[in-house]
Amino acid sequence: MPIIDNPIVLSDASLVLIEQKKATANFSHANWGDEDLQPVRREIREHYRNVQRLVCVYCLGSVSAHSAAGAPVEHIVPKSQHLHFMFEPENLCVICPDCNEFKSNRESLVNPVLTANRVNYPRNSALYRIVHPHFDSYDNHIAKFNRLYVECSDKGGYTIYICNLNRFFRRFGRCDELVNDVALAEQAERFFEDGIAPEQP
Ligand SMILES: [Zn+2]
Repeated sequence: MPIIDNPIVLSDASLVLIEQKKATANFSHANWGDEDLQPVRREIREHYRNVQRLVCVYCLGSVSAHSAAGAPVEHIVPKSQHLHFMFEPENLCVICPDCNEFKSNRESLVNPVLTANRVNYPRNSALYRIVHPHFDSYDNHIAKFNRLYVECSDKGGYTIYICNLNRFFRRFGRCDELVNDVALAEQAERFFEDGIAPEQP
């Protein structure tokens, strides 16, 4: 099951604010942070905090329950490159600040040029290079062993790469946790032998 099974249905008040914003001169992705869109961002953030139960869709770490900076709204397809998907419910979620900084505006579509003129948001999982939290099951693509992330598919590998999910090991260059944790080592062994991903916490 994808982590998100319930995309936001924006309130009428938010839809009005969005239409007003789109009608302004020089409307661009930079308008996302405008003061008058704060209620829209808050509504989106609160919805996905609840649906995701405060779990980051990329690293499965925590997003903050209260601080807006600790739960940035993520545009799965970057808003800087695909403006018309900026308020698309299935393009939105919340992630942790680290995943947000690492992923930044990296491309998530297989063929962004072909998709550039699409009016409707692509709903075919195969069109995405990343593990899409609305369409893909995380466990089919990434196996997580404590702080270690193992790719189970090309999508998993790309997501691990663009979000730098193995940042703990990139920083410390050690795997003592894996070696010293017997249960974890057994789990990892089973995975590498049988290809069975561990149960997510
Ligand atoms: Zn994260």
